[in-house]
Amino acid sequence: MLIVQKFGGTSVGDSSRIKNVARRVVEQYRKGNQMVVVVSAMGDSTDDLIDLSRQITDNPSPREMDMLLSTGEQVSIALLAMAIKNLGVEAISLTGPQAGIKTDIYYSKARVTAVDNTRMRAEIAKGKILIVAGFQGLNEFGDITTLGRGGSDTTAVVLAAALQADLCEIFTDVDGVYTTDPRVVPEACKLDTITYDEMLELAHLGAAVLHPRAVECAKLYNIPLHVRSSFNNHPGTIVKEEIDMEKSMVITGVTYTKNVAKLGIFGVPDQPGIAYMVFKTLADNNISVDMIVQSSMRDGVNDISFTVAQDDLRKSLETIEEIIKVVGAQGYTHDADVAMVSVVGAGMNSNPGVAAMMFGALADTDINIDMISTSDIKISCIVKNSEAEQAVKTLHTKFALDSVGQN
Ligand code: ASP
Ligand code: MG
Repeated sequence: MLIVQKFGGTSVGDSSRIKNVARRVVEQYRKGNQMVVVVSAMGDSTDDLIDLSRQITDNPSPREMDMLLSTGEQVSIALLAMAIKNLGVEAISLTGPQAGIKTDIYYSKARVTAVDNTRMRAEIAKGKILIVAGFQGLNEFGDITTLGRGGSDTTAVVLAAALQADLCEIFTDVDGVYTTDPRVVPEACKLDTITYDEMLELAHLGAAVLHPRAVECAKLYNIPLHVRSSFNNHPGTIVKEEIDMEKSMVITGVTYTKNVAKLGIFGVPDQPGIAYMVFKTLADNNISVDMIVQSSMRDGVNDISFTVAQDDLRKSLETIEEIIKVVGAQGYTHDADVAMVSVVGAGMNSNPGVAAMMFGALADTDINIDMISTSDIKISCIVKNSEAEQAVKTLHTKFALDSVGQN
C-alpha cells in the first residue's frame, strides 16, 4: 500500500515527539508499505516566525513572509528524516517545490494548481520514505508560496491524490472529530465516520480539526481521510463520501461561533433590484455576508437582516448608512452581542421535524431565537452571545449525541 500520513505541529513539537513519529512511520514501512509523510512546523514555530517579522516591520512583503514561514516546515522535515535514518531506514526530506507542488501566484493563501510527481515517484522507487514539507509550493515565478494557516492538511490530501495513495491519515493531538467542542460539552463523543459535506460545515463553523480546503480537495478526488491521534493507536474518524444510510445519524454535530454580528435594514422598498443593490454594495466593500433573512412585505416595504463576521461590523455599518440613503430605507439596527449555533447532519433531509426539534429544545431552555437559516444539512440559529454555550449543551443532549460513543 502507498500511505500518506500527515503529522501536525503538536505531534512534532519536540525531539522526543519527532522520534515517536519516526517510530510510527517506520513501523508501517516495515510492514511493506510505501510511506509519504507530510509534516507541519514544530509546535508554535509558525506563530513565532510571525512575531519575529512583526519586530522588524508592520508591513512585510508577502513574498518575504512566505519565504520566512516556509522555513518552519523545513526544520521539521529535516529532523524527521534524520530520526528515521537513525532507525536504519532510508528517508529523504523534500520541500514543497522539490516534491513538485505547483501553486498559483497568491502569497500566503496560494492554491495548488498541479503536482509533478516525477521526483517523488523516483525516490519511492528507491525504497525511501519521503518526508515532505506541508503548507508550501512553488509559483510560476519560481518563488516559494504558502497555502494559508493550517495548510499542511491540504498538502497531504493533494499528495494522496497525485500519488493515488491507498490511505491518507491525518495525525493530530485529538482522537478524531467530535460531535461538538469537548471543552463546552464534556459528553462530546468521537464520531466513527462523517461525510465530507458534514465535515466541511463543521470545519467552516470552527471545528479546527481539519482545514476546510483539505476537506474540499478530499471530496473532489474522493479520498477518504482518517483523522486520528498521534499519541495513541485508537481508531479515529473516517471522513468519506457516503455513510451507510441505515446507520447514519440524523445530526452528527453541534457547533457555534461567537464571531458574528447581526444587522437589519427596515422599511426597504419592495421592488426588484433592491436586494441586489444592498448585497452588491456590501460585496464591493469586500464584506462577506452569511445568513440572510428577508421578511415578507408589509405595505410595500421589506425588512432585510443578515449576519457578518464581527471584524467586518464597522465597515458594514458605514456601508449600510450609504445604502439606506440610496434605496430609501427607513432605518437600520445592529447587534454584535450574538452567536450562531448550528446543528449539522446529512441525515436531516430524509428526516422531517429536525428543525422543530431544534426550536423546541431551545424554547424549553428559554433561549430566544433571533434569526434562522437552513441548508440541506445544516440549521443555524442566531441567539444571544451569553446563551450560546447553553444552547450547544441543550442541542447536544436533545439530538442524543451525549451517547454516540456507547452505540
Ligand atoms: N505551520 C502552518 C501553520 O501553523 C501550517 C500547518 O500547520 O498546517 O499554520
Ligand atoms: Mg495545523
